[in-house]
Parts: sequence; C-alpha cells; structure tokens
Amino acid sequence: MRFVQACSDNWNVPIIWVEYQHTEPYFKVVNFETASRNGEPFEDLIRNGSRRYLPNPMTRYCTVDLKIKAAQRYLFSIGWDEWENLVGIRADEPRRVSKIRANPSDGNKGITRFMPLATANVTKEEVGKFWENNTFDLELPNINGITYHGNCDLCFLKKATAVMSLIAEKPERAIWWAKMETLITEPTIANGGIFRTDRPSYASMLKFSADQIDMFDPNEEAIACFCGD
Ligand code: SF4
Repeated sequence: MRFVQACSDNWNVPIIWVEYQHTEPYFKVVNFETASRNGEPFEDLIRNGSRRYLPNPMTRYCTVDLKIKAAQRYLFSIGWDEWENLVGIRADEPRRVSKIRANPSDGNKGITRFMPLATANVTKEEVGKFWENNTFDLELPNINGITYHGNCDLCFLKKATAVMSLIAEKPERAIWWAKMETLITEPTIANGGIFRTDRPSYASMLKFSADQIDMFDPNEEAIACFCGD
C-alpha cells in the first residue's frame, strides 16, 4: 500500500483505489488512509459472495472478483465502455506473454490487454536494476529476483516452502487464513472449505511452525564463540 501511494506521490500519478464489497455496486472507492489493511474485502467475498467455497488453485475467483471485476465496475460506473489494460508481464515470462497475446480481450468486449515491458524486451534483471536505482521501491526482500512477500501474504498459490517460511517469520500471518478455513461449513464443492486439498490446513501449518519453535528452549542462552581467541 505504501508503495502504491509512493508511486502516486513521487511520479505525480493520480491513482484511484478500489475495493470489493458484496453489495451493489460491488466496489467502493477508498484511498491510502481508508483502504482496508486486514483482508476485509477478501473476507467479505468469502462470507457474503455468491460462492459457497473458498478460492483454490483451480478457481481463483479472488483475483477475478477482488481485482479485475472491481476495477472494471469502477470504470463502467464513470461511463467507460472501452479501454486498454497495461499488464506488467516481462519478456522473460514467455508462457504468460503467449497466453495474453492469444487472447488480448480475455473475453471482455471493449478491453484490450497490452504488455509494454514484454514488447520492449524488458527482463527481470532490468526491472531489478531500475528499482535499485530508484528513490523508493516495494521494501520487500528480493531473493534472486523473487519477492515471496508480495501479493496476498500467504496466497495458496505460493510454494508450500515459501508459505511455511513466511509463517515461521511472522506466525500471526496465518491467523486470517486459518480463520477463513473455518467459515464455509457447507461447501457446494468437495473440500470447498479449505484453500488446497494437497496441503495441510493453515491452522496445521501454524501449529507445525509453533511446535518447531517449541522444540527448543526459548530461554536457552547462546554459547559464546571463542574462535577469535
Ligand atoms: S494473490 Fe492469491 S489469494 Fe490473493 S487474490 Fe491473487 S490468487 Fe487470490
């Protein structure tokens, strides 16, 4: 959020902040100060949206409803019926580039997706250099060009090892996800109450992470290293 606001402040770009809500018009305009910080729109979608199951790797309705449709609905509301979406896919992501080029409208009349970075042959290394030389950036750890902390913090699409290390780093991150896995009690699809069927629940991962830490005495004192003597 701070990063989006920094883009607006540093580059003098007006940014409209839009959030999902489950009642008409299914979006609301917020700003840096009023935007939700604790996953409230996502929880609203899970609790009160039309689907009685959690998003999962096969059906990522969170992306569609929280991001794509909310933005579209805002633009329709101000009278737009035709526009271009600029997508930040790079030249070194050929599979995604081909997918979008094969279907630029994604089935939406009046919308065309363009990938200026891919068209200009910009790769991950150049993007990294740009941000290194910029006065601000995402302020997230970057491990060999991968930012595991980006997007929704414990997104079910992230690698299990990344999710576990994010939980180990900050266990409270798992609380929201574990709570979501208790909300759908009568799912309309099999295993619809959990985000993934091929992984332990978020509550189990949180417990596992806590148990790993509990294996060691928190009061144990470090043993002095005398290798410099
Ligand atoms: S980052 Fe993951 S959890 Fe968040 S909207 Fe995208 S798919 Fe859904």
